[in-house]
Amino acid sequence: MKQGKCPKCGSTNIYGPADLPLKSGPFGSNSIPVSLTAMAALDNYVCVDCGLVESYVADDRMLKKIAEKWKAVNASVDEED
Ligand SMILES: [Zn+2]
Repeated sequence: MKQGKCPKCGSTNIYGPADLPLKSGPFGSNSIPVSLTAMAALDNYVCVDCGLVESYVADDRMLKKIAEKWKAVNASVDEED
């Protein structure tokens, strides 16, 4: 969706947060808890035709922190190796 196409309905009417001044809203809305002391603001991309929203953590430091603090999700066991 960052590339401007909706994966759900195929629309190209996607709107992104490029110039949004306040990504993280009041009381930590539009952000996710990363650790006890850190929150990561989200970039939201919205399809104005079907309403689908995709969220991305844009801050590289937070992505690193998530990789340190969170538990990795294992790939499907169905996959051949
Ligand atoms: Zn759509």
